[in-house]
Formats: sequence, C-alpha cells, structure tokens
Amino acid sequence: MTLFDVYSLYDIEPVRGSGSHVYTADGTEYLDLYGGHAVISIGHAHPEYVKRVSDQVGKLGFYSNSVVNSLQEQLADRLGMASGYPEYTLFLCNSGAEANENAMKLASFATGRKKILAFGKAFHGRTFGAVAATDNPRIRAPFNETDHVDFTPLNDIPAMREALASREYAAAIIEGIQGVSGIHEPTSEFIKALASETGKTGTLLILDEIQSGYGRTGQFFAHQHYAIIPDIITCAKGIANGFPMGAVLIAPEIEAKKGMLGTTFGGNHLACAAALAVLDVMEREKLVENAAQVGEYLIEKLRAMPGIKEVRGRGLMIGFEAEGISGSELRRRLLFGRRIFTGGAGESTVRLLPALSLTREQADEFLAALEAELKTLETE
Ligand SMILES: *Cc1c(COP(=O)(O)O)cnc(C)c1O
Repeated sequence: MTLFDVYSLYDIEPVRGSGSHVYTADGTEYLDLYGGHAVISIGHAHPEYVKRVSDQVGKLGFYSNSVVNSLQEQLADRLGMASGYPEYTLFLCNSGAEANENAMKLASFATGRKKILAFGKAFHGRTFGAVAATDNPRIRAPFNETDHVDFTPLNDIPAMREALASREYAAAIIEGIQGVSGIHEPTSEFIKALASETGKTGTLLILDEIQSGYGRTGQFFAHQHYAIIPDIITCAKGIANGFPMGAVLIAPEIEAKKGMLGTTFGGNHLACAAALAVLDVMEREKLVENAAQVGEYLIEKLRAMPGIKEVRGRGLMIGFEAEGISGSELRRRLLFGRRIFTGGAGESTVRLLPALSLTREQADEFLAALEAELKTLETE
C-alpha cells in the first residue's frame, strides 16, 4: 500500500523536537515558526507534558463517556478560568472540524432553524457541515453542496444585516482571525455589529477560535480583543499540543439534553491529561503574555524590514508578503537554505504560527535569516 497522495510534502522528516526546534535523524536543527500548523502551543516535547501524558497512558489511557471522568471536569474548570468563561459548559471531541460540526448542530437544536451564515474566504474544516461553511468550492464535493449555508463578504455590515434580518439562521460562524485565507481580521466594527445583530435576530454567534484561540493572539481568544461575547466558541489545534482534541464552549442559556451530542474518543483520559498539562504550562510560563510581547515585536520588526510589503495579524498569528518573490518560494528557501519552518496561505502569504513560548532571541534569529534571504534577491 502507498499513501493517498493529497498533501504537498517537503522532503524533510523531523524525528524529534524540543521547544521551538525540530531535528532530522542526522541531527540537523530547524527553527520552527510554524508549530506544525499552530498545534504546538507549549513547545515540542515539553518535559512536563511528556511526563503527564506518559503517566496517564500507564494508568488509564481510555474509557468511554458512559462513566465519570474527573479529568474532563478538571479541564472544564481550568479552561473556564483560563479563558474567562467560567459559566460556560464544555463538550469535548477530537478535532476542529468536529468541534464546528457540533457547534452548528447545537445551534440548530437550540433555535429550531436550519441555516448557517458564514463569511467570505472562511475556513471551518473538511467534514460535511464544516466544509459547507467553508468558502472554498475546490474542497467541497457535490455531496457537500447544501442550500443550508449562505455567505456574505467578511466586513460587509449591510450584507450581514440583511441576511440575518430574515431570521432563518440558526447561527453565524466566524473565525476570530481568518487563518487559511491568509490572516485576515474582522474589523472591530464588523464583529461588534455581528454580535449585536445575531442577538437581535435570535441567531447564535459561533466563534471559530480553532486557530486564533488558546493564547495565540495575545488574548486567550482573539474575539476578546473586541470585547464581544459569543454564544459558542470552538477550539482545537493548540489545545493539547498535538494530541488530537476539539472543544466546544457553550453559553449557559443553551440547554443540554441527554444524548443530543456524543463521541467515542472525545475527552478521553489521554487527551485530557495532555490538555491539562498545556494549561498548567501556559499559566506557569505566562505564554499568553509571551505571545503578545514576542508577537508584537515580530510584527513591528517585519513592518520595518525592507522588502516586506504587507504584514497582518496579532500576537503569534502573523501573515506577511515579500516583494519580488512568492510566499511559497520564500518558504522553500527559508526551509532548505536557512533551516526555518514557516507556514503558507495561498501563493503569496507566509504564515507564522510558532509555539507560544517562542523567545525574543528566536524571533531575532528568524528576522536576521529573513532579512539575509531577502537581500540575496537583490543580487539575483
Ligand atoms: C484547522 C482549522 C479547522 C479544522 O480543524 P481540524 O482539526 O483540521 O479539523 C477549522 N477552523 C479553523 C479556523 C482552522 O484553522
């Protein structure tokens, strides 16, 4: 058997990691400004994380959701405190797409409505409902076509208002900051108008914080920069530092009924141990504050760098474009020439999604390498 060939691969195999570095089998070191796609939140192979997950697998790796699992209760308590949503309830699942799927299903149960409003260039995942709410026809199969989802352009307040006025929508779903589209923020006016309009029309507001949440932008959730309060918040990516997990945070008005949601693997003991270790390390090492500080520093330095034409983002969720070279070619050169992993978005954008523990020195190392690489373009 060979692999179903759906990923474009770089010919490099990291076999171990430590903090913001990964290593190939021959010991070559790479600086990781990509975090395996915003997943590595506390750094690779953090010793406390390794210990907690290893201890848990030696005790009890899994039991089903038909019995008490106090690790889930601890996680709900800790996540409520860390995020500023102590009164919300928590539903655990296994991935980002699944978190959004459950969020939309829940909104539909709660309102009795069928439709979802999503926004231009949004990405919400690849399962049925999530891909239907994703504004990218290339990844939507005929089977996924549905008239239950409509899109209006991001940041177009009149179009959003007009759609919601129909009162047909169970929920509007929006990313805290769009990731896959290349780091695009909702304007403060737009997201505030959306919060108010959803409230007035009996529509639930789902904030997809799968990429922008969990400390990445220097607040626990990106929407907290705008002081709005969603009805449902979805998380995944950084939540368990690489252990597959998704989470749905649910406002207290939304009522749970036995059996309305469920999963076999979701919230299992290993995943909870991993997620609890992440929250412990985030708090002790003040990683949300670090993401704010190192992120602000990186953004400022990138804005001042000759050859960089646009920088977008907040904290350690950054997209930039360089003059005279495509994002994909620049990423390739940084990887093979300078041993630095970065992320991409489309042809033009380079995306930085490093561990929240990235140091100022590591940021400087990246900036120096990028500047040197851009200088070589002048002489080509
Ligand atoms: C990655 C991502 C998802 C999907 O998460 P998976 O774990 O890959 O299913 C959904 N929404 C956003 C904003 C994402 O970045």
